[in-house]
Amino acid sequence: MTNKYMYFVANWKMFGNLKTLNSLNKVVTFIKKFKKNKFRLIYCPPMTLLYPLAKKFKLSPIDVGGQNCHENENYGAYTGQVNPKMLRDTGAKYVILGHSENRQLGENDSLINKKIKSALKSGLKIIFCIGETFKQKKDKKTKKILMSQLSNGLKNIKSKKNILIAYEPVWAIGSGIIPKKGELVETIQLIKKKVKGSKVLYGGSVNSKNIEYLKKISNVDGFLIGGSSQVSNNLIDIIKKTFN
Ligand code: PEP
Repeated sequence: MTNKYMYFVANWKMFGNLKTLNSLNKVVTFIKKFKKNKFRLIYCPPMTLLYPLAKKFKLSPIDVGGQNCHENENYGAYTGQVNPKMLRDTGAKYVILGHSENRQLGENDSLINKKIKSALKSGLKIIFCIGETFKQKKDKKTKKILMSQLSNGLKNIKSKKNILIAYEPVWAIGSGIIPKKGELVETIQLIKKKVKGSKVLYGGSVNSKNIEYLKKISNVDGFLIGGSSQVSNNLIDIIKKTFN
């Protein structure tokens, strides 16, 4: 059981349609009653669902966020892209940046840094993802990789108060494998030492079973949940078990 204020970020990735949103009625009802002041829940659906979801959550404390955005604040000839102001226009308050699935598509630290600056300027809060690959972990490069992702990703950003850091080891995402408790405590400590005052979430295969283990990580400030967040009952279970 934890007494700390916690963040739960549901990353739906490329999942969901308008009909799927009906399944969130139970989350809205759950949130009305359950330990309201103890946590913040943020849903990050695909772009197509941002506006309808923001509308659905209008009278609820649940926030909505994008899964990525373009680095340019203004309109431009960028086919298929959406800028941070356009995200804000849908009702989004957050955006996930630096997710490893986008890093794997070619996003580097310098581009992520531009995106973070532009999104902050547009008034969004950031969920900034960092994490090492399995090879980097095996080669004992975790610390070096994380420190460099933090230095470069947050370069020339003075105030970090609107940035949540999500530590997501690439090898843990979607694999069913999670880090050992000691490793996780130590890594989160390193991140908090590097970015003073930061809130650090853990992401990678969080589910309604391993949450019993993960909630014991004393310095974690919440969880970024992919696959398990797509089923409302699973997400509700994760939140309940975190506090029970
Ligand atoms: C993610 O994609 O951010 C994530 C944590 O995914 P999963 O929970 O499915 O491992």
